[in-house]
Amino acid sequence: MKLFVAGLVAETNSFACCPTGFGAFELRLGPHDPTDPMGMASAMQGVASRAQAAGWDVAEGVLAAAQPLGPLVDAAYAALKALILKDLEAAMPVSAVVLILHGGMTSQSIDDCEGDLLAAVRSLVGPSVPITASLDLHCHLTARMLQQADALIAYKDYPHTDIVETAARAADLAIAAAEGKVRPRMAAADCRAMGLWPTLTGPLRAFVDRVRALERQPDILSVSVGHGMAYGDVPEAGAKVWVITDDNPVQAARLAQQLALELFDLRERIGTRFTPLPEAMARLEAWRGDKPLVLADVADNPGGGAMGDSTFLLRALADRSIGAVGLGGLWDPGAVQLCREAGEGAKLHLRIGGKCGVASGDPVDLCVLVRRFIEDHSQDDFGARADLGPSAWVETDAGLHIVLISKRQQVLGVDLFAGLGLEIAGLRGLVVKSMQHFRTSFAPFIGEVIHVETPGLLRTDFEAIPFQRRDLNYWPRVEDPYAAE
Ligand SMILES: [Zn+2]
Repeated sequence: MKLFVAGLVAETNSFACCPTGFGAFELRLGPHDPTDPMGMASAMQGVASRAQAAGWDVAEGVLAAAQPLGPLVDAAYAALKALILKDLEAAMPVSAVVLILHGGMTSQSIDDCEGDLLAAVRSLVGPSVPITASLDLHCHLTARMLQQADALIAYKDYPHTDIVETAARAADLAIAAAEGKVRPRMAAADCRAMGLWPTLTGPLRAFVDRVRALERQPDILSVSVGHGMAYGDVPEAGAKVWVITDDNPVQAARLAQQLALELFDLRERIGTRFTPLPEAMARLEAWRGDKPLVLADVADNPGGGAMGDSTFLLRALADRSIGAVGLGGLWDPGAVQLCREAGEGAKLHLRIGGKCGVASGDPVDLCVLVRRFIEDHSQDDFGARADLGPSAWVETDAGLHIVLISKRQQVLGVDLFAGLGLEIAGLRGLVVKSMQHFRTSFAPFIGEVIHVETPGLLRTDFEAIPFQRRDLNYWPRVEDPYAAE
C-alpha cells in the first residue's frame, strides 16, 4: 500500500493590495529537501511517519507555502497545481492521498482553489481511493471540497499549536479508510457568524475541549470547527462545523447542526475586545506592570494578509515620546538596507514604513541609532525557524525601539526581538505585528495584551467589511441570521 502526500498552503485576503505570485511560495521538493515552507514541513513528516508506522510506503510530493496576501495570480495557482498532479501521477498507483491545505485560498478567477485541487486529484485517482486533507481553522469549507474529499480535518487551536497532530489524523483516517476499517461520512453546518476567536481561554476553550471529548466516541471520527477567513470575499465564507462519522451520515449531520448552533450561541462571548488607539496609548502611558504591556497591531497582521508596514501605532508612539517601548517586526527592506550601509552605531534620518498603500498609513521620519544589524535574522515558529531576512534594531532618542525586517512575517517568537539583542523584559510596552500566534512564545515575558483598533487592512468592524460576493446573512452584520426560517 502506498500513500501520496503533498501540500499547498496559502491564505487569501481579498482586500490585500498585492496578489500572491509564484515567487511568494517556498517549495520543498521531496523528503530530502531541507526547505521548510512556512514551517509546514513537520506536517508532511507527520503524515509520512503515520503511514510508515502502519507499514505503508510513502511518496512525498511537493509542499508549497506562502505568506497570506491577495488572491493567487492564476498562472501561479495553475503551476503549483500542475506540480502536485505531476508528482501524484509519478507515484501512481496509490492507495490513499493526503493533502496539507489551508482552505482559504483563492486565485484571481477561482473562488475555491482547494475544491478545485481536490477535484483534480479525485479525477486522477478515481472514486475509490480515499482522499483526506488537513485545513487551517481559518478556512472556507465549501460544498465542492466536501464532495471531492473523504475526510477534511481542521486545526482546533488558535494559536495553531496542533498543525502536526491534525495532519497525522488526516493520515490515520486515509489509511483506515483504504484498509476498509472505517467509512468516513462528512456533514457540515453553517454557523452564520464571523469574528476573530482565540481558543486559549474562556467559553471557546471549553467548547473545543468538548469537541475533543466527542472525538473519543468510537463512531465519531472527527469534529472540526472552522472559524472562516474573515477577509475572504467568496460566496461560501464563514464559520462552519463539520463532523465525520463512521458510516453514519445522519448522525454526522445532526451533530454538526447541534454544534453549529451552540457555537452561534457563544458568539458574543468568544470574540476579541478591540481597544481604540487613543485608549491604548493612555493605557500604555499609565502602565506600571512588572512586564511589558503588549499592543497587538491586529489590522496590520501579515498573518492575515496585511503588509506589516503600517505606521498608525508608530506615529502615535513617536508623537507622544513614550520611552522604553519596542515595536516590530515592521517590514521595510529599504530601511533595513540603509541601516546595513550606515552600520551599527550610526545615527541616521530614516523614513520608516507606510510604503504599501492607504492601509499602511504615511511613512514616519525619525532620527535613529542603529543598535544592531543581522544579515539572516529568523524567529521561532512553533518549533520551526521562520526566516526574517536582513533585519535591524534601531532606537530613537525617546527610547522607542523598532525592529525592521525584510521578509514579511507576523510576530511569532520572542526571539524576533531578543535575537537582535533587544531584551523585552526592561520595556514598558511592546507593539507586535500579530493577532494571536505570538502568545505561545511570549506568554512568560509579557503582562496584559490589548488588541488595538487601527485603520489598517484587517478591519475589526466585521459588520461593515465591504464584501461584494460573500453571503451577507451573518452575525454581526445581521442580528439574527436564522430569523428567515
Ligand atoms: Zn489560521
